[in-house]
Amino acid sequence: MSLLGLSGSASQVSAVPAKCESCASSAFYKQPDFRRSIGVGVVTVASLVSFVLMGMGFGWFTFMSPMLVALVVDRYFAHTRKLALVCYNCSHIYRGLSEAQLENIEAFDLEHYDRIHYAARTGQASPED
Ligand SMILES: [Zn+2]
Repeated sequence: MSLLGLSGSASQVSAVPAKCESCASSAFYKQPDFRRSIGVGVVTVASLVSFVLMGMGFGWFTFMSPMLVALVVDRYFAHTRKLALVCYNCSHIYRGLSEAQLENIEAFDLEHYDRIHYAARTGQASPED
């Protein structure tokens, strides 16, 4: 497990699985294999520095520049980290897949996530039932 990678249960695969090995769901999304807490931490620090610079009376470009740095850091890691396949239902992570193998997998979709996780609350069946 790498320090920068997504945290959680994970397995190495050589092909996109038809069903999740942990929960048998067939709904997956792809995302860069980058730990979310680091990304949130970078944005939090940049926001605090921006807020302090704004309070000190700097111009908009100066006080927004930490956010620009956070954007550059985010884009750098999104571009350089390999993609991982993640189960919508149980968040199990699948590593070892190439970009070509993940070409037909969509990126994370909050509406799809909500339909799976809040199906019971809305009284609707989840999409794969
Ligand atoms: Zn799963």
